[in-house]
Amino acid sequence: MDCIFCKIISGEVPSLKVYEDEFTLAFLDINPVNPGHTLVVPKKHLVNFEDADEETLCRLIKIVKKVGFSLKNNLSAPGYNVAVNNDPIAGQVVPHLHFHVIPRKENDNIKLWPQRSYAGGEATEILKKIKI
Ligand code: AMP
Ligand code: ZN
Repeated sequence: MDCIFCKIISGEVPSLKVYEDEFTLAFLDINPVNPGHTLVVPKKHLVNFEDADEETLCRLIKIVKKVGFSLKNNLSAPGYNVAVNNDPIAGQVVPHLHFHVIPRKENDNIKLWPQRSYAGGEATEILKKIKI
């Protein structure tokens, strides 16, 4: 399979590993938003959240927390962003599920997405559709 993250997991493509266990690998993003930007991936090839079972997701989020802890403690980052671009429309370029863990600094000038207001009645219409 021609998946860059599977190649990293198999060792065919080199990476700078932050953490590894039987199920999960964390490595430095090659083009970081900020230095220390880490990707946390399942070793099994899963495309997105819908592809992943709950156990795998639990394992991943535990490692995301460990990585965040290390970024805070060892890079003096006051905080970090955790992001998943789920599917191409959301910006997913590599079709192998991954969490971005991005350390933040004061005045690092990173802006997240713009927000808007709801039009009258729009929020309740949306809620009717998506309430679980
Ligand atoms: P996404 O847009 O959410 O699919 O993110 C994919 C991420 O993978 C990007 O931030 C890339 O910089 C990163 N990336 C792509 N190839 C490599 C690689 N060989 N080693 C490390 N990170 C990579
Ligand atoms: Zn893969």
